[in-house]
Amino acid sequence: MMHRLQVRLFAAFLLVIIVVVITILLLVLPAAEQEIDTYAQRTGRLQLARMHHWLLGYHSARGSWSGVQPFIEEMGVLYGQWVVLAAEDGTVVADSRNMLFGQPFDEEWTEVVLTGRDDERILGVLYVSAESGIDEAFARDLRDSLGYFLFWGALTALGAALVLTLVLSRAISAPVRQLAESAIRAGKGDLTVRVPGSFRGEIGELARSFNSMIADLARAAELRRNLVADTAHELRTPLSNIRGYLEAMRDEVLEPYDAIASVEEDVGMLARLVDDLQELALAESGALGLHLEPENLVTVIRRCVASLHARASARGVSLHLELEDGLPPLMIDFQRITQVVHNLLVNALSHTERGDRIVVVAEHLEGVVRMRVSDTGEGIPEGERENVFERFYRVDRSRTRATGGTGLGLTISKQLVEAHGGRIRVEGNIPRGSSFIVELPLESSGGYAPNTDSMIS
Ligand code: ADP
Repeated sequence: MMHRLQVRLFAAFLLVIIVVVITILLLVLPAAEQEIDTYAQRTGRLQLARMHHWLLGYHSARGSWSGVQPFIEEMGVLYGQWVVLAAEDGTVVADSRNMLFGQPFDEEWTEVVLTGRDDERILGVLYVSAESGIDEAFARDLRDSLGYFLFWGALTALGAALVLTLVLSRAISAPVRQLAESAIRAGKGDLTVRVPGSFRGEIGELARSFNSMIADLARAAELRRNLVADTAHELRTPLSNIRGYLEAMRDEVLEPYDAIASVEEDVGMLARLVDDLQELALAESGALGLHLEPENLVTVIRRCVASLHARASARGVSLHLELEDGLPPLMIDFQRITQVVHNLLVNALSHTERGDRIVVVAEHLEGVVRMRVSDTGEGIPEGERENVFERFYRVDRSRTRATGGTGLGLTISKQLVEAHGGRIRVEGNIPRGSSFIVELPLESSGGYAPNTDSMIS
């Protein structure tokens, strides 16, 4: 059975051919016929004029029609018409077919009266038969051959349309069919499927969009798979710890009182993990629902620093602030940006030792407010810096328990900053330590007075 596209294409071609043939029949053919008739009439008139002229010449040279018969016969042959010459009294004096000689002529033929040049004396009458001569026959032939060519032309065009339909429809429908089959395979879960990107035009664009859509789907599917695997892996450690403590208590190897703190720690870890995962899921799906309000980043920084002040002091780490005066307010979600700043400060504290320094700088640059949280702590090896924003990535896995981190803090921070249209990155410090840089866009760049204030804790 013919493919639907083929049928449609053929129908389109057929329609075009029918329209062309009808146009030729209705417009071109009558016009051509009229032209042929006009041409035939003009040629007929010209022939009569020539005969008239010649006969007048003959008469003036001879003074009579005697001996004109052979010339009239010749004219009949030459112009393909029956030519008769009658004298002034109406008697036939010459006949190209030699049949009416001497008879009075009274047929309804085309006639030309031959008059003398100087006087108005009638010398004779030239009759040409109404039946068709060479030119009318030619005109009829021309009309016939036009009809003939039109018929065969339409038939040839029909054949060409059939061949074209087959060739073109195959060329057009092959990529479409390939796309449809690939879409069905992708729908069934095969995300390795791709269509050749070599198709041209709109189909090519469609193929490339399809490929990039499938690539996105494959990436999303892989992320989902990884997330499930990573999450299972992260849950396993605290859960097996809790199980170990429970078994130890059941076997009376460990007193419940001694186990409580450790179990609490692992349960706390599990709770944080669940909270962070939920937060990340919201951020990644773009469903955070930011409450944007004009806020100054300095307020956020000061509040976070104040909440960690005691902890830093206890650990012997100094906290410095270098905050530009008159920083323009930003359109931010206060809670979320507080979460980012808090996370960066907690990380800095977790990876610094007694005597280290943490500096928080906030400044206004072109179109952005930039915050930099620098520490003189252990730092992050250069090759691992970009990875710290990956889900569950930790530079030193063995320190997880010590820092109590879920490995999701920076991933969430990155999502939150990007949700505000900003960027976050990490740099290494010389001689040691690392700097996390957050840039948040200004909604409107108002004037400000650069000035640096410093607070040491
Ligand atoms: P965590 O909950 O483990 O802190 P994060 O996503 O916040 O997770 O950080 C990921 C990893 O990046 C950390 O485990 C740590 O190895 C590294 N990291 C983050 N901040 C710092 C820092 N200031 N100095 C050194 N390493 C850091």
